[in-house]
Amino acid sequence: MHEASIALSLIDVASEVLRENGGARASALTVRVGAWSSVVPQALTAAFPACAQGTPLEGARLNVVTVPGVGECPTHGPVTLDLKGGLRCPQCGAPTPTLLQGDELELDEIELLEPQPEGS
Ligand SMILES: [Zn+2]
Repeated sequence: MHEASIALSLIDVASEVLRENGGARASALTVRVGAWSSVVPQALTAAFPACAQGTPLEGARLNVVTVPGVGECPTHGPVTLDLKGGLRCPQCGAPTPTLLQGDELELDEIELLEPQPEGS
């Protein structure tokens, strides 16, 4: 259910953008999901079609781009974190409590559907 509510809020944001584009419809949606966010990409793409029904995003494809976690090590600077290793530098084991990236969930791109020619 977690992913369904996320899908709904993404659809909300995207619908708003489509309204600003004169009521266009979308053919595809790309979202960036951090590997360290609690979102399961597969569950999100599975929840999306049902959530999009009756919205301007009905029938649109959902692409999920996974963003790896990056922490800041005092010695090594930004390091890519290993999910299994937790918030620690994979090289020296120092704690990296701050995520520089990897916990995001954001709308990246909306592909607009070409308007259908009238009278067809
Ligand atoms: Zn380090």
